[in-house]
Amino acid sequence: MQMPETYDAVIVGGGPAGATAAHELAQRGLRVLLLDRGGRIKPCGGAIPPRLIRDFGVPDHLLVARARCARMVAPSGHRVDIPIEGGFVGLVDRAEFDEWLRERAVAAGAQRVTGDFTAIERDPDGTAAVCYQQREGRRPGPGAATRVRARAVVGADGARSEVARQTVPGFDRGKFVFAYHEIVAAPAQAPGYDRDRCDVIYDGRISPDFYGWVFPHGATASVGTGSADKGFSLRASVARLRESAGLAGADTLRREGAPIPLKPLPRWDNGRDVVLAGDAAGVVAPASGEGIYYAMVGGQFAAEAVTELLRTGDSRALAGARRRFMREHGTVFRVLGIMQWFWYANDRRRERFVKICEDRDVQQLTFESYMNKTLSRRKPMAQVRIFFKDLAHLLGLARV
Ligand SMILES: Cc1cc2nc3c(=O)[nH]c(=O)nc-3n(C[C@H](O)[C@H](O)[C@H](O)COP(=O)(O)OP(=O)(O)OC[C@H]3O[C@@H](n4cnc5c(N)ncnc54)[C@H](O)[C@@H]3O)c2cc1C
Repeated sequence: MQMPETYDAVIVGGGPAGATAAHELAQRGLRVLLLDRGGRIKPCGGAIPPRLIRDFGVPDHLLVARARCARMVAPSGHRVDIPIEGGFVGLVDRAEFDEWLRERAVAAGAQRVTGDFTAIERDPDGTAAVCYQQREGRRPGPGAATRVRARAVVGADGARSEVARQTVPGFDRGKFVFAYHEIVAAPAQAPGYDRDRCDVIYDGRISPDFYGWVFPHGATASVGTGSADKGFSLRASVARLRESAGLAGADTLRREGAPIPLKPLPRWDNGRDVVLAGDAAGVVAPASGEGIYYAMVGGQFAAEAVTELLRTGDSRALAGARRRFMREHGTVFRVLGIMQWFWYANDRRRERFVKICEDRDVQQLTFESYMNKTLSRRKPMAQVRIFFKDLAHLLGLARV
């Protein structure tokens, strides 16, 4: 009997995390299979920082808009416009962006297949066998069940990952916000809408524990919100957002939602041959919900951990993906977690939060950290001042 093919790595999920992992591994000359179920555009606001564009070589043509201003809106309607000096927030459409990433992995040598991951089984010699159901219209036939052997598996199949559920202890400790958005045809002009501006709305009526957004995407716009409160009507909230942006009458092109994980899982590997990346590992920045950059970094670190496992045969190498990620981004995640917990608790605090965003130093430091993904050390005195201001707000000593 002929043995089924053995890949060095099978990547389950072809979003930013999986496509990046596949690209990195294929570039190293490894035999890589990239499995994605296809057929659905990932619901996403598509906002990405310049650091991502730089580090991952994203070409200009994938940017459908460049926002040079961010508007923070408080419950009272008070608005603070923050110019993004010396940079911009990039906006991508996930249909084109993800497809480009997957094709880049193929160009580097990865093999690509469309199908639904179903299970990881074990062959008698202990090797992992990744099972999936081929999608209709693809060879060898509609719905064919397929099985491939893998020396390592990267689980990058998004929030509520099936790979994580089957293989990684602690997968069920994840926390989620459910996010919903509508893609609408963007008018050339509307009273509350600007094609070069990202609006972020902090208001308990829009979200009791997260925020709402209106993001420009060139010919379209993403209008959305999220909440962990299952009883909260996200649709009614998006209708309100559309109304205030002057987009109530705009054509609705898509309505879609998905969970956003809020906390990195305690473990990202099975101690043997599976490692998680991106949403599957619970890696989205608290407070901002930013996940694309962190998914791609997670894909990169997973690829490094797999390379090390294949080189040494030491399965402890897989834990390196989480270790490295937390070393580089753990502090930012902790700070953002505290921010979300404190500032998004009620409208009085949201009002104060938007108020402190009027401070030029807060604006500069926030955007520098967003754009470059490092906590700026350029203005130590400004940081001290912000710290005491924040403290005054936290203790209720400052006036709104
Ligand atoms: C409404 C909304 C708005 C958001 N806005 C932003 C934003 O503006 N900026 C930002 O940075 N982040 C945003 N995020 C978060 C961001 O979308 C995610 O963090 C990011 O997509 C994670 O990438 P990933 O590759 O880990 O997972 P995903 O992008 O979810 O990719 C997972 C892939 O796995 C595939 N898959 C899943 N199950 C299987 C299976 N069984 N078999 C085969 N394939 C499978 C899917 O087809 C998909 O391609 C938003 C999220 C939501 C829900």
